[in-house]
Amino acid sequence: MTNSYSWGAKWIIPIDQPPIENGCLTVVDGVITSLEPNRQNDATEDLGDVALIPLFVNAHTHLEFSGLNRPLGEPGMRITDWILQVIEYRSEQTVEQKNAAIADGLKESLVCGTTGIGEIATHPWFQELALTDDILIRCFIERLGSATVVSTQIQEAKRWLNHHTAHDVWYPGVSPHAPYSVSDELFHGLLDWAVTESLPTAMHLAESREELQFMETGEGPFRDLLEALNVPLPAHTQRRPLDYLKKLSRVPKPLVVHGNYLNGKELDFIAEHANFNVIFCPRTHAYFEHAPYPLEDLLRRNIDVAIGTDSRASNPDLNMLAELQEVHRCFPDIAPEKILEMGTLAGARALQFEHQMGSLTPGKRGEFLTIPLESTMTPMESILSIEF
Ligand SMILES: [Zn+2]
Repeated sequence: MTNSYSWGAKWIIPIDQPPIENGCLTVVDGVITSLEPNRQNDATEDLGDVALIPLFVNAHTHLEFSGLNRPLGEPGMRITDWILQVIEYRSEQTVEQKNAAIADGLKESLVCGTTGIGEIATHPWFQELALTDDILIRCFIERLGSATVVSTQIQEAKRWLNHHTAHDVWYPGVSPHAPYSVSDELFHGLLDWAVTESLPTAMHLAESREELQFMETGEGPFRDLLEALNVPLPAHTQRRPLDYLKKLSRVPKPLVVHGNYLNGKELDFIAEHANFNVIFCPRTHAYFEHAPYPLEDLLRRNIDVAIGTDSRASNPDLNMLAELQEVHRCFPDIAPEKILEMGTLAGARALQFEHQMGSLTPGKRGEFLTIPLESTMTPMESILSIEF
């Protein structure tokens, strides 16, 4: 027996087509089947003065920090000092605590209306977790380290992947962590693997000025950090994020996480390579008090920008709507429709979940958020101002 239900609403905001006033959305057996004007008033249930929008896609997070009640450190702190706190926190976390934090993070995401997650996963992720299909996860297996451990690192990741392929609610990806933490040998090995297996590849890149300084000169706070951690220093200097972008461009789906300090030439390079997605983490960006994010420069070049919360180690929660509201606050000239797309469909594209989620489109998952409308505001203003 099929299970069919339809909802009428003052506005339906599908994202991939213009909003529909007095619309009717029908879901059959958990899948959207139609979206049309509610002409005959024939919806099973009329929800009234509300807007229906797709659930959110959080393109970048690290759920193992979801047990934190407040971000580590203080706003505006130097990123290398923050990384030291992250390392210390992790070293004190047991596997049970880590699994509990991931479970909490998934629960919190679900409550906040998120249905897809790009998770940076450290070993051994979710071995004890019972996952449900409420949230699909693109699990980027994170690797970092020096040349001596390349083959072990990749072998371990492959074994882990093979062990877990039975799941149908998470999908694999790979993450060479960042330029300062990944040797060239490991980076190239991971890219080869990503090409062979068609794995989306997420890398933290151009996140801080200190990272750029280290890339170019081998000096600065990152040198001090690596020396303090007894990690071998990279052999190369005089690099720019562009050197990494060029290498990343050969994988099928490269994701640039942050990209806070990409220059015009680097943005042009990304714009010329349509397989790239860039992920902006608005409240984490604010936490570190970075220079203003080049969002308008990215969008002007038609670069596909998705939104992530990053983790609770640099953000108070995992609420995607709060991220979009932060974007609206910082960039009042960007169309609200575009902001909503970044938090939904663009995220789905980045994680390659666009056939399941990200817009209210026939054939996709039959799920949506109901946002009450303020009579004095446009539907988009209501969405971007509501407390959720
Ligand atoms: Zn991150």
